[in-house]
Amino acid sequence: MPELPDYSDVVAATGRIAGHANKTPVLTSRTADAEIGGQVFFKCENFQRMGAFKFRGAMNALMRFTPEQRNDGVVTFSSGNHAQAIALAAHQLGMPATIVMPEDAPEAKVAATRGYGGKVVRFNRYTENREEICAALAEKHGLTMIPPYDHPDVISGQGTAVKELIEETGPLDALFVCLGGGGLLSGSLLAAKALSPDCQTYGVEPEAGDDALQSLRAGKIIHIDTPKTIADGAQTQHLGHYTFEIIRRDVTDILTVSDNELVACMRFYAERMKMIVEPTGCLSFAAVRKMKAQLKGKRIGVIVSGGNVDLAKLSGYFAAT
Ligand SMILES: *Cc1c(COP(=O)(O)O)cnc(C)c1O
Repeated sequence: MPELPDYSDVVAATGRIAGHANKTPVLTSRTADAEIGGQVFFKCENFQRMGAFKFRGAMNALMRFTPEQRNDGVVTFSSGNHAQAIALAAHQLGMPATIVMPEDAPEAKVAATRGYGGKVVRFNRYTENREEICAALAEKHGLTMIPPYDHPDVISGQGTAVKELIEETGPLDALFVCLGGGGLLSGSLLAAKALSPDCQTYGVEPEAGDDALQSLRAGKIIHIDTPKTIADGAQTQHLGHYTFEIIRRDVTDILTVSDNELVACMRFYAERMKMIVEPTGCLSFAAVRKMKAQLKGKRIGVIVSGGNVDLAKLSGYFAAT
């Protein structure tokens, strides 16, 4: 396996994506501070371009393409935020992008990806293998494949959010990061270790899909079936090779939260902070609420990872609780 990225790669990524990615706001809430008994800093990547931190990693990866790679374009597989991130970043750079998406992906997501200029190739997720389809397209048209999390340039791009956060707040005692395949958590760990070495950093995944927790305990990557959870950005079946190595080396622990706890957080963000956060983006603060007894008087960073949720769905979640 090639070398793992380090903090110098996060610094380089910051320079590359400056002027393309938003420097997102860090918000505070007296209600949150009172509830937790500490000081909570929310890094709001729901206000990132296309509505999630994934634009950072996508932009960083595409900016490292050679002129030949740019000319032929990028390919990826995703039905979620990574698809839109790659489509938008490629559009900004005038590069063709092909996104492989399941036939039953929500039409809104397909439309958003096309809206950013991406070419969508559909596949049947029950009979076809998306990685094989991607590889065949890459081979046939000379496209470069950028996966959603297990890539050094994606990881270092994602790390720029925590670099911005800690540069703004100063050192933190604890940091909570939403966790799917681990690109965001790995990049966050690289930045946190460098800028706030005593910070305890936690990855938070859905209870129904605790593969990272299992992997950490087992000392190897554990594969699970696609978990049933409303946190669709964290429905990954396993960590990546790069992300697992960084996480197991640097993480304090992995925590899990239930779907009901995510809905309660979505409601908190909407009512108290006047912002829309998607279920996956609620993982981090849901974990803070669960372990608040250990966080009294602490300075706590919370990554709010994204805000892309269908409004009809959102009201459905609220109506059900
Ligand atoms: C992709 C995504 C995650 C998980 O990120 P990983 O790098 O796969 O761990 C969390 N939240 C949102 C909103 C996402 O889009």
